[in-house]
Amino acid sequence: MTDTTSHASRGRDEVYLNFIGGQWRQGSTPDWDENRNPARPNDVLGKSTRSTAADVGKAIEAAAAAQKEWARKPRTARAAVLEKVAQLMRSRIDTFAKTITLEEGKNFNEARGETLKSINVLEFTASEGRRPTGEVIPSDMPNTLIYTTRSPLGVVGIITPWNFPLCIPVWKIAPGLLEGNAIVFKAATLTPATAKLLVFTFEEAGLPAGVLNLVYGSGAVVGNAIVDDPRVKAISFTGSNEVGTELYARAARRGAHVQLEMGGKNPVIVCADADLDQAVEATVMGAFGSTGQRCTATSRVVVERSVQKAFVEKLLPLVRAIKVGDGITNPSAMGPVVDIKQYKSVLKAIEDAKSDGAKLVCGGEPCTAPGGGHFVTPTVFDDVKPSMRLAREEVFGPVLAIIPVDGFEEAIEVSNNVEYGLSSSIYTNDVKRVMQYADRIETGMMHVNSPTVGGEAQAPFGGCKATGIGGREMGSTGPQFFCEIKTMYIDYNTTVRKTNTY
Ligand code: NAD
Repeated sequence: MTDTTSHASRGRDEVYLNFIGGQWRQGSTPDWDENRNPARPNDVLGKSTRSTAADVGKAIEAAAAAQKEWARKPRTARAAVLEKVAQLMRSRIDTFAKTITLEEGKNFNEARGETLKSINVLEFTASEGRRPTGEVIPSDMPNTLIYTTRSPLGVVGIITPWNFPLCIPVWKIAPGLLEGNAIVFKAATLTPATAKLLVFTFEEAGLPAGVLNLVYGSGAVVGNAIVDDPRVKAISFTGSNEVGTELYARAARRGAHVQLEMGGKNPVIVCADADLDQAVEATVMGAFGSTGQRCTATSRVVVERSVQKAFVEKLLPLVRAIKVGDGITNPSAMGPVVDIKQYKSVLKAIEDAKSDGAKLVCGGEPCTAPGGGHFVTPTVFDDVKPSMRLAREEVFGPVLAIIPVDGFEEAIEVSNNVEYGLSSSIYTNDVKRVMQYADRIETGMMHVNSPTVGGEAQAPFGGCKATGIGGREMGSTGPQFFCEIKTMYIDYNTTVRKTNTY
């Protein structure tokens, strides 16, 4: 297929088919899932085929058939395909961005940012194709060479959420392919158009048939069929803790490799000596950018009581000034929540916070818009206690909790007192506190005087505690999940010797 217009969003007649063994095919059921625009829920963008476990079986078979030949290609040749995908993506940034905004809801500028980040990830991963892949290690024995090599795992399953429908698949697929694996990709049901465009771009870049396969359908059917199939050697998953932990247990029963990136409850610590304007600006960006639907979104401000009032007074005018609306017609507005289910879940979290006694100081209600979209006003609760649900549970929407504390020690304690550990930030000019924070905070990503959000392609990304299991994504560590490291010992003594036996 060479016509990109057939893969760009074309309105309600667009269909999203499985891509198996190099063919775009309908799943085995006659059923379809509608793809709706969350800013205008009456607008149907298209429909994705609903697959069965048998369709997943065909995708795994195609992947297994293609994998060995793909792995035999030089690493640099595999990297060249990633480079080509990056070039093609760069030539259609606005098509990707528009597709993301239409089906996920983040505004056009944010969707462009996601596309640019995906290009960075592809380019960085391609550059890893020219870097060393192992170590030469000194031996205790004479005339002995020890070194390491990498081998692919085989067929890998990739299961992704809707909130970064392009970037998360890219940061899993690219290192998976670089290491010589073949992939079965299950995209989120809410964002099928971006997945189609991405897979089409790999096809256009010349990836051999069967090396990347896409299967649409529900998590319960398609996701479980991937997780339970012994031919799938590893699963890289990003999504909720509820699904991820269940998936982990299922995969463990058959000994599959598993990588999980899950929820967050990311704090910004505001110390009494902080530059409050800077802290406020970063908090607004972190809490309400992408409608709070980022895994690294700021959801708690842990503020020293002596500056709480001043912080809130500076914060509220900026929050009230946020424009809410359709991210296509207003490319910098805060977009809708992704669907009706998530919308109800965010509104329920707001009601729970009120009944727990948190003080609502801004927003807290649905927001009416011309298209009837799933909009929620940017919401701030003050005087939240660390024990309240709003301080502990992930909301995944535009809702911020302000938690006052009596000093740095309590700030660290409160920040760590949740099950999650993805990202955090501290605002202070005290270098001792910065170093203490770095030692003691239980998050995989740390920021000093910068927002909790984001992550660069060349740096490891992931969380501690209940957020992340199975190693960091992106950066040079990203590809490590997708290979076996093998250790070689070569004895080149010319005379017989006694081998070291311990
Ligand atoms: P989700 O867990 O509902 O779904 C994630 C994916 O899993 C989807 O493709 C879904 O279809 C699939 N799935 C559902 N049931 C399954 C099953 N039984 N077996 C296998 N797969 C199944 O998550 P979501 O609502 O799409 O995404 C939001 C969540 O993702 C939030 O909790 C957010 O924090 C998290 N997230 C984390 C990161 C991170 O890097 N830590 C990044 C983005 C999103």
